[in-house]
Amino acid sequence: MLVVSPLLKRVVYPALHHTGCLDRVTPSAGYAVVNYHGMLPAGASTGDLPLDGSLVHPEAFRQQIQFLKTHYHIIHPEEFRASIEERKPLPPRSVLLTCDDGLVNAFTEMLPVMQSENVSCLFFVTAESCSDQPGMLWFHELYHLMRINPLIGMDQDLPADEDAAANPQSDFHSIWWSTVKKASRWDRTTRADWLDRVRTSCNSMASSMKSSMGNSMESSAVSSASDRQWRLMGTAELKQLTEAGMTIGAHSLSHAVLSLCSDEEARSEIQDSKIQLERALGRPVWAFAYPFGYGFTVGERELRMAQESGYSCAFVNVEHWDTECNFALQRTHVTSDMTLPEFAAHLSGVHKLLQRAVAG
Ligand SMILES: [Zn+2]
Repeated sequence: MLVVSPLLKRVVYPALHHTGCLDRVTPSAGYAVVNYHGMLPAGASTGDLPLDGSLVHPEAFRQQIQFLKTHYHIIHPEEFRASIEERKPLPPRSVLLTCDDGLVNAFTEMLPVMQSENVSCLFFVTAESCSDQPGMLWFHELYHLMRINPLIGMDQDLPADEDAAANPQSDFHSIWWSTVKKASRWDRTTRADWLDRVRTSCNSMASSMKSSMGNSMESSAVSSASDRQWRLMGTAELKQLTEAGMTIGAHSLSHAVLSLCSDEEARSEIQDSKIQLERALGRPVWAFAYPFGYGFTVGERELRMAQESGYSCAFVNVEHWDTECNFALQRTHVTSDMTLPEFAAHLSGVHKLLQRAVAG
């Protein structure tokens, strides 16, 4: 999780950025990895944090890419792969772009910007995208469904979560995240069946509200606007990405919290996503990104399983500068509220140094 004090965000980073100090303290060796999750439609506001907060605004995205092109060297994912597998040296101040989850807005909104700026990106997608018409990732859909129906009576079957029992939560985000953790303990089929029941319940509630309030309401609980924003790419879009010079990596089968899955389920999530994507795309998948990718969601077991599955590297969602290539690689997660000076401070490594200093 990124924590930026208002003083750093509003005063320190802008001052360091505008005086060029960040450029002077940037390490001249090593590389950074930037992580996006997709793009908000033009003119949209971040209405529903935290989900919308992971999507960047179009103007901010182009500004960040142009900043990187001016101050850094954006490398192609295959250049990065050669540095990992063959120990080929990277240019000074290298940056790798990555984008997780495989949302269709990354294809419709981000790809054109990348193409016009002539940069490449490593897209991490789940095996849900190995079909013609995938829906949403289950935890995104659950978020929207819980906005409609707070799971009254439907959370009885969920596996227990010790943290939630010890620290009962009352705000929406905490309850949703607790539900995600509980449902991650199930196998994929059990979780999908349960989500089906939640969806049916919410849709019938939306239908009855529609009939009592007139036709202005949508009969599906998840609005078509949300569906467009959070729907996944399918195989056709993945193939077009690779034809456009982009690289595809694996982001598990279903995007569960892997550290809460059984051994068998976690191994399948990591290993079978590689197999299914390679089959769908007809090309090797050499990189993995852990779903959620921070704190307790990745442990020694998950790192070992990714290595045993034949990946060359795996990415998590915390950041620092790497000066040598280890298997688990860390990234800067870009959020919708990240200013350009803040972005520059993250890339330079100054953010991490100051956060450590503030934390004491
Ligand atoms: Zn993800």
